[in-house]
Amino acid sequence: MTEVLNVEEIFGHNVFTLGKMRERLPKKVFAEVKKVMETGGELSLATADIVAKAMKDWAVENGATHYTHWFQPLTGITAEKHDSFVTLADEEGRMLMEFSGKELIKGESDASSFPSGGLRSTFEARGYTAWDCTSPAFLKEGATGVVLCIPTAFCSHNGEALDKKTPLLRSMEALDKQALRVVRLFGNTEATKVTPSVGPEQEYFLVDRQKYLQRKDLIYAGRTLFGAPAPKGQEMDDHYYGTIRERIGAYMKDLNIELWKLGVTAKTQHNEVAPAQHELAPIFDSANVAVDHNQLVMEIMKKVAVRHGLTCLLHEKPFAGVNGSGKHNNWSLSTDNGVNLLDPGDTPNENIQFLFVLACILRAVDKHADLLRQSASVVGNDQRLGAHEAPPAIISVFLGDQLQDVVNQLVATGNATSHIEGGVLQTGVGTLPDLKKDATDRNRTSPFAFTGNKFEFRMVGSSDSVGSPNTTINAIVAEAFCEACDELEAAEDFELACHDLIKRYMTEHQRIIFNGNGYSQEWVEEAARRGLPNIASMVDAVETLTTEKSIRLFEKFGIFTEAELVSRAEILYETYSKTINIEALTMIDMASKQIIPAVAKFTKSMADTVNSVVAAGLEPVAQKEMLTEANALLTEAKAALNTLVKVRAEGAAMGEGKTRAYFYKDSVVTAMDALRAPVDKLEMIVDKEMWPMPSYGDLIFEV
Ligand code: ADP
Ligand code: MG
Repeated sequence: MTEVLNVEEIFGHNVFTLGKMRERLPKKVFAEVKKVMETGGELSLATADIVAKAMKDWAVENGATHYTHWFQPLTGITAEKHDSFVTLADEEGRMLMEFSGKELIKGESDASSFPSGGLRSTFEARGYTAWDCTSPAFLKEGATGVVLCIPTAFCSHNGEALDKKTPLLRSMEALDKQALRVVRLFGNTEATKVTPSVGPEQEYFLVDRQKYLQRKDLIYAGRTLFGAPAPKGQEMDDHYYGTIRERIGAYMKDLNIELWKLGVTAKTQHNEVAPAQHELAPIFDSANVAVDHNQLVMEIMKKVAVRHGLTCLLHEKPFAGVNGSGKHNNWSLSTDNGVNLLDPGDTPNENIQFLFVLACILRAVDKHADLLRQSASVVGNDQRLGAHEAPPAIISVFLGDQLQDVVNQLVATGNATSHIEGGVLQTGVGTLPDLKKDATDRNRTSPFAFTGNKFEFRMVGSSDSVGSPNTTINAIVAEAFCEACDELEAAEDFELACHDLIKRYMTEHQRIIFNGNGYSQEWVEEAARRGLPNIASMVDAVETLTTEKSIRLFEKFGIFTEAELVSRAEILYETYSKTINIEALTMIDMASKQIIPAVAKFTKSMADTVNSVVAAGLEPVAQKEMLTEANALLTEAKAALNTLVKVRAEGAAMGEGKTRAYFYKDSVVTAMDALRAPVDKLEMIVDKEMWPMPSYGDLIFEV
């Protein structure tokens, strides 16, 4: 008998939802909280005290002993420091479980070990965390017990953002303001808020934990640094959407339950293209909640895996020659009265608003293709982008045939003004076709694809936070809206001006549209002719953050100050160097202590075999050949190891920053590749019994 899951009861069980707040808070307090959630501002301390008490009571009833301000520093993962509710009640040593409003809304954090890119040394050592009350508090269960987690933003004492959340919230505010101007122009007087919605589809690998533990590269770098290809890859397409095996199914079931408890709407699950690769997609949510939830998804994926004797790999490219993992970031924009600005709509007026929004997005993406590329930069993604499995590093927009046709017509119609008839704006295409039906010809090779009523940004890496990509999308779209609204609000004839603007934007930014095969070499050449940036590496992308164009954009909308951008650029260079340094050290460790000794043993046993065969009066032809080959590769590997040791030490001794990052990218990575090549060949020669770690086949086919 399978037990019956009561999903309705499970869902949100560990979340202090709006519903629970309504139940537990006095009406007036609840109204104040709701108002702050909807329109921003701060809770009064008196209100915060009442909310904190209700939250603590609920948490304690559910077993919580501690609370934490849960935040997202620039390490890309989440951070927490637990404090218990325990407070001494009196001199006799009795204790109480207490939690004040002050503790709820603001936390002090020394946090001096988190990356700050120089911000903190210039200003102050401490940081503080502040409750993002639009993302609900939740309970995390683990070996330490139950902890109340309060989603927070993390800033320096001068208010500079030290995390991925603060700029995201700022970008949402900026976009809200500009998008409201848009809907007002189109006659929507009811909407009071426009919110970006995000649905990130998460790809991941599962490998057997015992095998994982035998691979130092997986342990330290999250990806294999050596490994010959398995005899079979993904060429049969027999894993994609394939039947989910029992062991994996049990994992997915457990994962769903954990996520549902946390209010994460885990919705879709399937096997992905590569063997041992899978995907989970939630139902979309407002951008900040989606970012929080995606962090939880990644964390819980790893945690639940251990319970099943598995390890979850979130690295963008755990295995060379096998598809890597990404995170399709679905993005859209909706008003609080239910209008999705990316939905073409049913009436001509809605159609025009849609075309206007589309024109603005094309302009935004074209103008800031470099920033968008940068926002999906994470060290592991360098292995994946453009590797014929993920979009290339060139940003382009896919529209699909129908919408492309509309754009073509708009661009081709002579003078826009001649198409205004009877006071009704004619787009030259009547009302738009139902574009959702166009979803069939989706182009998986496009980094920024229109999919019916949303855009799908497919460049994001699987291990990355979706904070930065969404901050960037929000910011660039806010700017495009702002410029367009400035123009249209001042226009004498709105409809004429609107049509002119749509046509102009679409004409000027046509080059960003590409519906063809993004994996092809022709596209790389064509994109270069169009003048589109092709930023191959994360290191090359860093500079886009601090261009004049970028600083103007982010400062204008209060999302980043120049100092914050400079600090982030520094952190990125450092993160890159440190990551490659760890990978290089791991290779050195594995080659010196495991691989080279194993090959040496193998050559000795081969040499012994050769001698024995000779002693037996025979000619050991094959044995000699194997020995010669192994010996040559061993010599090559040892020389490559010596070089890597030297080059890495040189990198480590360099001053921090850009020069060092480039040194790691150009010199250290090259030395790593030179070591890997002979080792992977050796793996094909050396007796499997002697090879000191599980092979690709063991890892991805025998889960
Ligand atoms: P796919 O074929 O790419 O898997 P799906 O229809 O399954 O497409 O959607 C993928 C993701 O897009 C899901 O997480 C879904 O919730 C999200 N999504 C759907 N509509 C929107 C929207 N309006 N805004 C943001 N995300 C959305
Ligand atoms: Mg998708």
